[in-house]
Amino acid sequence: MSWRPLAGQVALVTGASRGIGRATALALAEAGACVAVGYNSRSEDAEAVAVEIRGHDVAAVALDADLGDSAVAAGLVARTIAALGGLDIVVNNAGITRDNLALRLSDTEWSEVIAVDLTAAFAICRAALRPMLRQRHGRIINVSSIAGVMGNPGQANYSAAKAGLIGLTKALAREVASRSITVNAVAPGFIETDMTLALGESVKTGALASIPLGRIGNPAEVAAAIRFLALPEASYITGHVLQVDGGLGA
Ligand code: NAP
Repeated sequence: MSWRPLAGQVALVTGASRGIGRATALALAEAGACVAVGYNSRSEDAEAVAVEIRGHDVAAVALDADLGDSAVAAGLVARTIAALGGLDIVVNNAGITRDNLALRLSDTEWSEVIAVDLTAAFAICRAALRPMLRQRHGRIINVSSIAGVMGNPGQANYSAAKAGLIGLTKALAREVASRSITVNAVAPGFIETDMTLALGESVKTGALASIPLGRIGNPAEVAAAIRFLALPEASYITGHVLQVDGGLGA
């Protein structure tokens, strides 16, 4: 209970009802931050995360928002500030996949992934930058993917969105560095969540063979990297892409 480097700070984590987002929200709370738990439809899961966060003696609120609509996404910033009194840390984590080979990839599969995984993150960054520029402090962490670094067959939409997040991260980092706002990305490899549960056994076996550490990662290992980028110790890191992938992209 004595280690509270983020005491007095407020974080917004999208997609925090499950998986990597949930682990991140809890890790930030453990470090003393109040947390807004963004989610789409699983209100019971999100409320349960908020209850767990309050167990760390910090405030938490669960906020529903379908990030397929960029105006709704941007609205999360004002709702977080209204509920928790400020905004210091944004983790754009929510993401979806709609996998298909490029020849068969529909316009809908393309645009749904771009909307949630890229456009919503931009809308949230743009909305969050106003208060952050005013207070001359802020941390933005965008959750990309190794697919955005290396590309992945069957995921042209997802790879494009995640590569786009890296470009967004680097451009914003340069725009706002003079106001002590850092913008970084974390690029997870193969992590055990509902997203990877949906993959077939043969895909999983193939992926495992290409991971130097020889195992799938867990959400807490990604959350630790995200939290590090929010800590005072990371104040001189911006525009960086931190791969948390067991060496997959080495
Ligand atoms: P997950 O377990 O599938 O959880 C997805 C989260 O995003 C949930 O909280 C979900 O909310 C939320 N979400 C989905 N669609 C949404 C929408 N339209 N509006 C608002 N929220 C929405 O995902 P995960 O595996 O933890 O992945 C988290 C992030 O890491 C994603 O950006 C993903 O691309 C990235 N990533 C994951 C892996 C991996 O191996 N798992 C690897 C690389 C990168 P509900 O619960 O309400 O549906």
